[in-house]
Amino acid sequence: MKYLIGIDDHDSYKLGCTTHFSIILLSRLIKYHSIKILDLPYLVRLNPNIPWKTRGNASIRLAVEFNGDKKELADIVFSYSMEYIKNVSFATDFGRKPGVAVIAYEDLQRYEALLNNFYIKAVSDVIPLDYAKRIAEKVNIEIRGDRGIIGSVAALGVHGNYTYELITYRKRENWLRKREIDDNSVREIDDKFFPMTFANYDYIKKKPVILSHGNDPVLYGIRGTSINVLLRALKIIKVNEDIDFFAIFKSNQGTDIHFKRLSEHFYQQIKKIINIDQISIIQGGDVIIKSAEGDTIFVYKETGELNQAAKELKRGDKLEIYGSVKPSIKYKKVIELERFKIIELNDKIYANPICPKCGKSMESIGKGKGFRCKKCRYISNLQEKVIKMIPRTLSLGVYQSRYYRHLTRPLFLEPISENIDEEIQYISILEKLCRELSL
Ligand SMILES: [Zn+2]
Repeated sequence: MKYLIGIDDHDSYKLGCTTHFSIILLSRLIKYHSIKILDLPYLVRLNPNIPWKTRGNASIRLAVEFNGDKKELADIVFSYSMEYIKNVSFATDFGRKPGVAVIAYEDLQRYEALLNNFYIKAVSDVIPLDYAKRIAEKVNIEIRGDRGIIGSVAALGVHGNYTYELITYRKRENWLRKREIDDNSVREIDDKFFPMTFANYDYIKKKPVILSHGNDPVLYGIRGTSINVLLRALKIIKVNEDIDFFAIFKSNQGTDIHFKRLSEHFYQQIKKIINIDQISIIQGGDVIIKSAEGDTIFVYKETGELNQAAKELKRGDKLEIYGSVKPSIKYKKVIELERFKIIELNDKIYANPICPKCGKSMESIGKGKGFRCKKCRYISNLQEKVIKMIPRTLSLGVYQSRYYRHLTRPLFLEPISENIDEEIQYISILEKLCRELSL
């Protein structure tokens, strides 16, 4: 029988990682329960705005063939979950509430639309556990555990274009050591393979951005759109320790899926057209945009190029904005921007005319009465202000934050819709690796 397994909330703030657990789980399932891997493990990023999920909110989907029923499979998976959080991540000590979900392929097909909707809701909204449990019951999903059930059920409905991430894991004795990576080797893969790998190196801060932080077992992750390129990159990257193992995940990272469902409510994504009323730059460099429609929009300094561009905006400019809605004590509701598209630039202002005699600016002597030169007192019979062009440094088009969030599509990136040959080849590599894992 073919099944999908969803897992979530196995990491803690200190240790462990749900992706790490997912490969250990696959290894156990292959070695002791004779399963077959049917697809790459899928790293499913969920709503980036959930306030209590600060570490990149993600769950995992696995696709397997298993000789038994789904209750049996859910029990087996959950027993390994408990083992992992007890021995590796101590997740429950840190308030994590792991969850597991299992669905048969036939139920997935029958309820595909419903599960797809649930997934879209989970990347863009806040879902209560009760609602996830009701959906699970309705579509015959076998669930175990607690709050992690939400992300697990959401992972079962993942669909759409995707990218890859190759993740390397550290040997346990190194978990507390500082990560050391050769910067040149990271720039080398960027030079060689961009945009088939992306988000590797920060050329402004001059440091690699692929390293994980903290004491979790992840050493680094390389994102890309080709499995072969990622495997070549793995050979080039130089680190100061032996990696324990690596795995390539499919992922919804870099696909913009969080902008598929929009809303003006807190912790959700918004995309709308606005006209600028006022721009202010506050201390520290953040930009606040007030729109003619009444929005308060923040463009943080950390967004780099986006913040720079926002400083050049003027009243009357028309933008399409992409961001998330957040509560604010001062403004009640703010939009935090990650991207804007300039639709129209206001490049004219109405100004007093220039004196034709001496070239100084003139002032109005009353509505409809004309203008008088401030210097030579020449009186012009011009009745109205003149249109003056303002030079603009911006151009029409898209501006995006330098440091985008997991789901945000980099402007150059073309996500994958299908890549069967490479994936079939890789699944056999992964099966071999899982068989050899001695964890
Ligand atoms: Zn004059």
